[in-house]
Amino acid sequence: MALVERSLLGPGPSNTYPEATAALAAPLLGHLDPEFLKLLDDTGERLRSVWGTRNLRTLPLSGTGSIGMEAAFVNFVRPGDVVVVAVNGLFGERMCDVASRYGAEVVRVDHEWGEPVDVQRVLDAHPAPALVAAVHAETSTGVRSDIGRLGEALRSRGDNTLLLADCVTSIAGERIDLDAWNVDIAYAGTQKCLGVPPGLAPFTVSERAWQRRVENPTTWYLDLGLIGNYVTGGASGGRAYHHTAPTAMVASLHAALGRVLDEGMPAVAERHRAAGEALQQGLRRMGLELFAPEGNRLHQLTSVWVPEGVDSADVRKQLLTDYGIEIGAGAGPFANSVWRIGLMGNNARLDRVETLLGALRTVLG
Ligand code: PLP
Repeated sequence: MALVERSLLGPGPSNTYPEATAALAAPLLGHLDPEFLKLLDDTGERLRSVWGTRNLRTLPLSGTGSIGMEAAFVNFVRPGDVVVVAVNGLFGERMCDVASRYGAEVVRVDHEWGEPVDVQRVLDAHPAPALVAAVHAETSTGVRSDIGRLGEALRSRGDNTLLLADCVTSIAGERIDLDAWNVDIAYAGTQKCLGVPPGLAPFTVSERAWQRRVENPTTWYLDLGLIGNYVTGGASGGRAYHHTAPTAMVASLHAALGRVLDEGMPAVAERHRAAGEALQQGLRRMGLELFAPEGNRLHQLTSVWVPEGVDSADVRKQLLTDYGIEIGAGAGPFANSVWRIGLMGNNARLDRVETLLGALRTVLG
């Protein structure tokens, strides 16, 4: 099969950082090699930096972003626990599904798709849930929610509720300050603003949450206690085999995080902001209407209404076949009426914006 090259300007995966690609081709290390364990430790340290946390337990889980979601619920929810989920798009929906499969009594706080999470409504949903879960950057709609305000509100209520945040689309694309935001558990994915292929789910847990984890969760593969014996060492300090860590992927993540931190997270966030703004202005100049509301609009993922009378799928097909550009369809009820355009990681650049806008202008005639 011929190798084709695409500009991946959809909701993910995005094109990788060159450093992440180069690391995949480096000589493979064994998962218990001291050199690899050093690299794994340093990956945890780099994740702590981009996430704004000092959580000891910060590690890449083997699997895509959804593995992070599964690990969060299976390790921190006991059957019958009340879990409040803010639902403002597809991934909030998925959280409800996953939480209920592990026996949670899910209290949904439904929002119109496209709205940010309403903190007061989440607080009012239950006086003392075991856990509150929300998506920081809803990829299905292109909307950012204020996780810091949610965390502050939960803490000032003085209860013991844990806060879980989905950071799949926000990590390494905008400022995140998990500790200041009082987030106890967070997960992410590698294939978006981190600029690494899909395959790992960065994960972090506060000490407070760790003390309340499920001791024997109904999963072996995602048991954080067992994985912890490998990643942070067991009681004796040794690193025990749990499963074969995907060493090449960890090396790739490590390299991408190095690239991001060399540039500096504030500069990376600004690059995403500038690219997203330029795209959104350009789309508006073409007469297109943006889907997400001003003020809560993501920069790394722009949702835009498909113009009246235009076939959404035809345009996407033409962009792909004639220009090698992938953009995304809408999600859920907006599958045919919205496009989603990602400028993530190495694609958060003005040259990508100009290329996309030029191609779209031609295709739309
Ligand atoms: N959460 C959000 C916000 C996402 O955007 C995605 C994927 O797009 C996921 C969770 C699930 O991640 P994955 O598809 O890598 O399993």
